[in-house]
This record gives sequence, structure tokens and C-alpha cells, in this order.
Amino acid sequence: DPLINQIAAGEVVERPASVLKEVLENAVDADSQAIEVLLEAGGVRRIRISDDGCGIDKDDLALALERHATSKIASLEDLESVATMGFRGEALAAIASVARTSITSRARGAGHAWRVEGPGRAPEPAPLNHGTVVDVQELYYNTPARRKFLKTEGTEFAHCDEAFRRVALARPDIAMQLTHNGRVSHRLPASDMTRRVGLLMGDDFLEHARAVSVEAGPLQLTGFASLPAYSRASRDAQYFFVNGRFVRDKLLTHAIRQAYRDILHGSRHPAYVLFLQIDPRTVDVNVHPAKIEIRFRESRAVHQFVYHAVERALGHSGA
Ligand code: ADP
Ligand code: MG
Repeated sequence: DPLINQIAAGEVVERPASVLKEVLENAVDADSQAIEVLLEAGGVRRIRISDDGCGIDKDDLALALERHATSKIASLEDLESVATMGFRGEALAAIASVARTSITSRARGAGHAWRVEGPGRAPEPAPLNHGTVVDVQELYYNTPARRKFLKTEGTEFAHCDEAFRRVALARPDIAMQLTHNGRVSHRLPASDMTRRVGLLMGDDFLEHARAVSVEAGPLQLTGFASLPAYSRASRDAQYFFVNGRFVRDKLLTHAIRQAYRDILHGSRHPAYVLFLQIDPRTVDVNVHPAKIEIRFRESRAVHQFVYHAVERALGHSGA
């Protein structure tokens, strides 16, 4: 139903960056080693993502732009411990209902690739060596009222860049490239966490940050937290990942701010890239379609753990 898809699209597809987020997460879920993103006009004119992942076979491709075509939940039980980024089977259908969307894909072991040019269209043979290319053009071409809410090209690109950074920080093992209007903005080789953080946050950040590495039972926190001497921090230099998923969470932000206040008596804009590993059965990520919020079953224990981990790292600074 195209109308239902368009309504769902309102929740999932707020702007080009939300398209990029969903399609990037699919590429990550597909076990890719290299992902290339090409944007035109802030992503409004075009978002094309190529990966070298497992691909989609012909039958699944025929359904990939339809609603609830997910391959990621085998049973209800899986909902308890979703390891993959996406799990609702709505994103591609929503995107395809508000933009000209095609997918070309070659499943591993298939003789050649197939392409679908839109929802309800039959797959046709296409040339592609491996992986998947999702091409999203002319966002909101059929919903002009929505299009009016888009900001300038520069602003929409900035949001796309941010969506790209979040995935790139979470997955340093994947080579990633971002090109906007023909200019390469990021070219990131596959590497380790420290090098990836250096490339995306700048060496200046690394020089003025403390490494965090604390484990307590089932909880583990790693990454970097800036010292007060690092002055370039902005609101957007705060990255927190829970089991590889970027989140912006009041409880976590509060724990970190409190550690900064108690140890450094201030530092208005702490910058950090932190990775929390936690038993997935004790978190609820199914809160919002954008999946940026999270609920912890034992929120006080998590708060205390994060607070003490950051406090300990900063305390070792001698500041
Ligand atoms: P979800 O990610 O929630 O399952 P999506 O609408 O994002 O739903 O994607 C639908 C399905 O299409 C996925 O479950 C997956 O099987 C397949 N798919 C999408 N993108 C890719 C990709 N880049 N590589 C392999 N399979 C993909
Ligand atoms: Mg998805």
C-alpha cells in the first residue's frame, strides 16, 4: 500500500541523512568490508551506496522494496537480542515510497547480478561484480510538501556527514569512503579504533584525550575522553555507542557530565568517543523508529559504571 508506506516514511525518512543511515546500516549488516557513499546536492538529488557484502538473491530482491521484507528476525525470540542494526523491514519500502529507488545486487555465488527499479517491479539482469548498490534519487519528488522542510544543501550534507561518521566510528574494520558533489570528503582505510578516531576526530583530539578501558562483569567501556586542554569540542563531538549502535541518551550523557564536573570541575564541552558493551538482553532499542534512543533494564548500575569509568580515566590525567 503506497499510502501506508508514505506515512511510515514520515517516521523513517526525515531527511537525506535518515536515508543514508538506514542504507549504511544495511550495508554493515550485510557483512561488507568496503562501503562507498556518493552524494549529490546534500543527498537530496542522489544518495548512492555501494557495498561488497553478501548481496540479495533474486527472489528477495523482488520483495526488498516492499513493506516488512526483513531477513533479520527469524523468530520473536530474536527481538530480545537483536544483533543487527536494522530489524523492522520497513526502511527500504519507506525510502522507495518517497524517492526514485533502485537496487542492484549480486548474491554470493550467483552467476550475475539483478536490478529492481522500484516497488512492484520485476528484477532484471544487471552488471555488478559483487555486493549491492542502492541508488536513491530525487528525495520527496512525489511529496512536495515534505520537500519544503528540507534545509540548504550545506545543512543536509552536514547531517549526512554526521550519519556517516557515526557508522565509521563504530566500524573501523570496514573501509569507507564519502564523496559529495564529486569531491571526496572521507577516505578511510580499514584499521583499528584508535586510527579511525584519529582520522575522524583529528590527531589534536587524540593528543588531548585519555584512553578509557574499563571492564566490570558484563559491562565494558572503551574509547577516548577529552581533557580540558582540548578546546575545539562542539556538541557534535560526543559519540556514545552501545553494542556498536550510536545512541544519544540522557542517562549516559548525565553520567559523563557528572564525571567531568567532579574530576575537572567543569569542562563545558567534553568531547568523547565511547563504546559500551553490554548484554543485549538487558537493553531495549526498539523505542523509536530512528532507533537512537535506548532503555537499560538496570539503569542505575549502568550510570554508576559509566561514571566511574570516565572518572577513573580523567583522574589518571593528573589534571
Ligand atoms: P531491515 O534492515 O529492517 O531488515 P530494510 O528495509 O532496511 O529492513 O531491508 C530489507 C531487507 O533487504 C534486509 O532485511 C536485507 O535482507 C536486505 N538488504 C537490504 N540492503 C542490503 C544490502 N546492502 N546487502 C544485503 N542485503 C540487503
Ligand atoms: Mg535496514
